[in-house]
Amino acid sequence: MNYKELANLLFPDIDKTISYYEEKYPKRNLKDGAKVTRIAPSPTGFVHIGNLYGAFADERLARQSGGVFMLRIEDTDEKRKVEGAVKAIIDAFEFFGLTFDEGVGIDGETGDYGPYFQSMRKDIYQCVAKYLVEQGRAYPCFCTEEELLELRKKQESEKITTGYYGKWARERNLTLDEIKERLSRNESFVLRFKSIGDEQNTFEIEDAIRGTLTLRENYQDIVLLKSNGIPTYHFAHVVDDHFMRVTHVVRGEEWLSTLPAHVEMFRAIGWDLPVYCHTAHLMKIENGNKRKLSKRKDPELGLTYYMELGYHPAAVREYIMTILNSNYEEWRMANPDSSYEEFEFTLEKMSTSGAMFDLEKLNNVSKDVLLKIPAEDIYEFLLEWSGKYKTEITGLLEKNKTSVIRLLSIGREGNKPRKDLIYCEQIFDFISYFFDEYFRIADRIPENIDEQDAKKLLGEYLKTYDPKDDQNQWFEKIRKIAEANGYAPRPKDYKKNPDLYKGHVGDVSTTIRIALIGRANSPDIWEIQQIMGEDKVRARIENMINRIKV
Ligand code: GLU
Repeated sequence: MNYKELANLLFPDIDKTISYYEEKYPKRNLKDGAKVTRIAPSPTGFVHIGNLYGAFADERLARQSGGVFMLRIEDTDEKRKVEGAVKAIIDAFEFFGLTFDEGVGIDGETGDYGPYFQSMRKDIYQCVAKYLVEQGRAYPCFCTEEELLELRKKQESEKITTGYYGKWARERNLTLDEIKERLSRNESFVLRFKSIGDEQNTFEIEDAIRGTLTLRENYQDIVLLKSNGIPTYHFAHVVDDHFMRVTHVVRGEEWLSTLPAHVEMFRAIGWDLPVYCHTAHLMKIENGNKRKLSKRKDPELGLTYYMELGYHPAAVREYIMTILNSNYEEWRMANPDSSYEEFEFTLEKMSTSGAMFDLEKLNNVSKDVLLKIPAEDIYEFLLEWSGKYKTEITGLLEKNKTSVIRLLSIGREGNKPRKDLIYCEQIFDFISYFFDEYFRIADRIPENIDEQDAKKLLGEYLKTYDPKDDQNQWFEKIRKIAEANGYAPRPKDYKKNPDLYKGHVGDVSTTIRIALIGRANSPDIWEIQQIMGEDKVRARIENMINRIKV
């Protein structure tokens, strides 16, 4: 077979050679050990937490080594393309603090290794495809869908591996004349790789996360170019990662099964392999069982979940770091005030068996992270979030800026600070009692206080209440009211002699708390009163008195 003639026949318009592109995209001039990484999402409109997990690994590898972190868009699948998806990807990553040195951006592309949209790289793929045809390592296959289905059925009935390979790859052996004839009939074809692998052979490859892998050789004649001339992922990533001079390919473990085909393609073209880093799936525990996060079942898989609820990007980032590297939490304990960027991220410390993703853990991390963010900044974040996701409260937040900041600050000082704040939706709920529009009585007054007593206690509280009282004076007054009405002035007195009292001072203050903020638990109620101001305090107590119909 004259492969050269076949190559020209299949790609008459491709006049560039691989060496042209080798020159156009030269080896990068970076310092020793600098890593070049990329994320390569498809613009499907769905960015998930797994993408972010992988992207952080890429970003850390590049930035820690003085390398390059880039964004390439894998948009070869027309059917899956969604309008506005590229912007959504960039916005989402940026929101979580990930920016790119090179590649696709909002205002176009940056970098000398583009285009960074796969859909614009057709000539480059075809040039490499043409080279493979010339080498006798790729061939056109005119099989129709029906024929392939037929083949599959036959293989299934014989209980052998399905696919296009070996003796089943019948169009491998078409003669040049046969090919010419079919082309002249305008028959549509895909371009297949001609594998020389053997099903029985294994080979070893180092995965930077998983160590040495022993894999079976590829033996399938996988499709390189679809009938419209557009490459499959398998072929496109080989070409792109080579010409973009990517050093480390971080991608999900779902690609492990096709890794042998990728390796064979790199070898067939004569290129060095990048370092492969296959990350583990994100898992969750459900009813005691570990399972993969699923798009259908788990809203927390999508990044918009975190944006809509108003998780602070620093909290999500911190949490991702804890699942990225098993030694991160230990490092964080020893370095509570350092930036996560000071931690030395390594691929070896990544999970290989499934990284556990747990919202409760994220919430705990978020509490710690928010504690370190000044209340003023949390206010600004809340305001920004409300502007996007809860506009009905923006006005309230703006009008009450000082009070909101004070409410957010309560109990955050000292060596046992309160950790009340997690994410915006919850934070607003947490302080919503302050706004009359949102105030509601959520909890009941303690059981041991009957309605008549409650009314009386609140009435006496109203009479003695003086906003100028300091915290001690204020509480002494409550103690007195409690005692005068048959409640122990101290919880311990009540514990000692429960028969002597109806309850204790805590029950009385809980009643006041419920009247004021509608809840039985909250940060320091004296402080809350100081923020509310006298009028609001009096109005709330009076309202509660009026609500009690006895
Ligand atoms: N487009 C592929 C994906 O979204 C990229 C995989 C890779 O990083 O190579 O899974």
